Amino acid sequence: MPPSAAMRRPHPVGAPGPPPAASPAPARPVSADLVDTARGGGRVVSLTFDDGPNPADTPRLLAVLRRHRIAAVFCLWGEHVDEHPDVVRRIVRDGHTLCNHGMRHDDMGSWSPERIAADLRETNDAIRHAVPGARIRYFRAPYGAWGRTPAVAASLGMRPLGWRLAVGDWEPPGTDELVRRLLDGVTPGAVVLMHDGGGDRGQTVDAVDRVVPVLRARRWRFTLPARGPALPRTRRPQTPR
Ligand SMILES: [Zn+2]
Repeated sequence: MPPSAAMRRPHPVGAPGPPPAASPAPARPVSADLVDTARGGGRVVSLTFDDGPNPADTPRLLAVLRRHRIAAVFCLWGEHVDEHPDVVRRIVRDGHTLCNHGMRHDDMGSWSPERIAADLRETNDAIRHAVPGARIRYFRAPYGAWGRTPAVAASLGMRPLGWRLAVGDWEPPGTDELVRRLLDGVTPGAVVLMHDGGGDRGQTVDAVDRVVPVLRARRWRFTLPARGPALPRTRRPQTPR
């Protein structure tokens, strides 16, 4: 955990945000159903990275993803966004998709919708302070403690983003073991949860660099997570397979 990140926040709550011209269109409600599947059929997989930005490992991961021409999802920790806005700008510049992962990585499992909404808005404000007008398509609950967060996130235009495979890279178990867990655990359509922040994630970056060519040789494709159209709640789409 970063020490007293709040003291270093560059924009106090209530300060003027980005200019109106840069503000995104009002969020349209999206489905509150958790999505844990990748777009497309067959051997598709989505790579998602939590808890960044991290000034050491995120830029190295971005270089790996660029070299392999993969678009991923970055679930951003608001305090880390405030500390390293330049890294967020690099993530966006490289064409990746953003996901709100909460301001302080709190367990929101027992929170009221009002408290959840305040946290999610604060996180989005931090992201848009770094990147005015940024699209933030997903929300992922810290610790997977979803509680009442899916409906709140959906009302703010963010689809709740689950996962089908986590590889325990927070341990961290060693690059060889991560490679093994990824290759053994991947299933068609899986959203895969890894981490580029919250600690030394060098093993994760190295494992991604090694696994991608192997999966490509086995005819896997890397896609973004599925995201249903904005529909009235009465017409929720089926979760795509
Ligand atoms: Zn997390």
